[in-house]
Amino acid sequence: MGDGSIEDSNRKIFAIQRALTDWYRAHRRDLPWRRTNDPYAILVSELMLQQTGVETAIRYYEPFLLRFPTARALARAETEEVLKSWEGLGYYARAKNLRRTCQIIVERYGGRIPEDYAALLKLPGIGAYSAGALLSIIYERPFPSVDGNVHRVFSRAYALDDVANARDEKRRTHNLARDYIQIAFQGGLSPSDFNQAYIELGALVCSPKKPLCDKCPIAGDCVALQAGLQRVRPLKEKSRALETKEMEVGIIWSNQRLMLERRDETGLLKGFWGLPTTEAFLGAEPGQSLVRYLATRYDLETIYPRELFVEQHVFTHQRWRMRVFHAFCELSCSDEHDPERSFAFFDSREIEALAIPKAFRKVLARYAERPLHVVAAIIKDETGRVFTAKRKPGGYFGDYWEFPGGKVEPGETEEAALKREIQEELSIVVEPTRFLQRNGYSYPFGQLQISFYECERKGGTIRLTEHREGRWLKPEQMKPQEFPPADAMIIEALQRALGK
Ligand code: SF4
Repeated sequence: MGDGSIEDSNRKIFAIQRALTDWYRAHRRDLPWRRTNDPYAILVSELMLQQTGVETAIRYYEPFLLRFPTARALARAETEEVLKSWEGLGYYARAKNLRRTCQIIVERYGGRIPEDYAALLKLPGIGAYSAGALLSIIYERPFPSVDGNVHRVFSRAYALDDVANARDEKRRTHNLARDYIQIAFQGGLSPSDFNQAYIELGALVCSPKKPLCDKCPIAGDCVALQAGLQRVRPLKEKSRALETKEMEVGIIWSNQRLMLERRDETGLLKGFWGLPTTEAFLGAEPGQSLVRYLATRYDLETIYPRELFVEQHVFTHQRWRMRVFHAFCELSCSDEHDPERSFAFFDSREIEALAIPKAFRKVLARYAERPLHVVAAIIKDETGRVFTAKRKPGGYFGDYWEFPGGKVEPGETEEAALKREIQEELSIVVEPTRFLQRNGYSYPFGQLQISFYECERKGGTIRLTEHREGRWLKPEQMKPQEFPPADAMIIEALQRALGK
């Protein structure tokens, strides 16, 4: 029987901590960061596990350590390289903080993680939770490490009946954890095991919605279980409403290179490369906010904006509803790489190597999925020459020659689309007379299917509306390399036919 003294209370507390750490040692998951004593590797895991689940972190942890095996290696790495290795984990500020923290550790502490709580809190990305985790796991120092799991267990197991609100409850569970780890440590228990035992119990047993109380090693002492309070602890914070922002996003090509902008150093996704994006002005016509943004911010004249699709992405406190537009830009060569401007054009391989935030990766993936159905006309004159037209500069395959034609709209037949497109592009009337061939072509971020028809000219004089010049050529005079790949395939077929 206890006597109600402080010693008696501490004995009870200690008994609970020992039961829990014994359970932890018997049941803990075999996680990669639990197999190492390397302080740097533990630091990486702690930063990675902030806002990321264990399963996801496992996939990134070892490749990241292979790429950056030491704090010195990470400190020396380029930001872009580090972000690339972090791509998909989200919350990229963590990656930048981790790199910066390693630089400070190398410069000020000779590469050793400081064993001092106040010094740790000064490092970028290290808060009270991570500082406690690092000190307890690396140095066996009795500092608590209270994340959401630990808070939940403390809140239920030691349910306090006089907490005012969720914030007050958090402060109180943190104080309890601070006191209990001291008691555990003084009794000879490992601070590392103490903190990890609570994390493990919260993750495996004392789960948010359905705690498995019958499997819990401290069920006999759990206040919430005895009072039936598991469902109402911890107290809930008032949730902030998710704000929806209407955005316009540009897919803008120049010479098979895609425009990306470097986002501001302030605001969402700061410092990353992304598709040009702006918030839509209230009441503006679709696409006009983007056109205005590109003109005022980059001095780029954008033409023919055409809406492609709408994509959504949810950030922590914000949802973007992105209307994605395809557009062309009037560019001079110097515009493409003006270092003073925070935009540039990249080919698909360069884009793969960049760390692009998930919101834009989603847009690019969706863009790549949509097949393009196109028709093109082989219009011959009486001498057997075929009409070809040169594309305007800018846009995908800008300045290339091509056979005139265009996109088949939903519900339209290929023949109807061809007549309409030729009327719009060349101002003449044609009649498709013979289907020649259909070529599939996969280009970066897209699949193109293009059907070629021989067409008879029925009337009108050629006036170009969408090309910079036109010319009549015999198939044998055509150079396939001056045409996009799908057009080059039909040229080769025409030349082969001539050779027969
Ligand atoms: S008994 Fe249930 S509510 Fe209490 S700590 Fe264990 S799992 Fe959580």
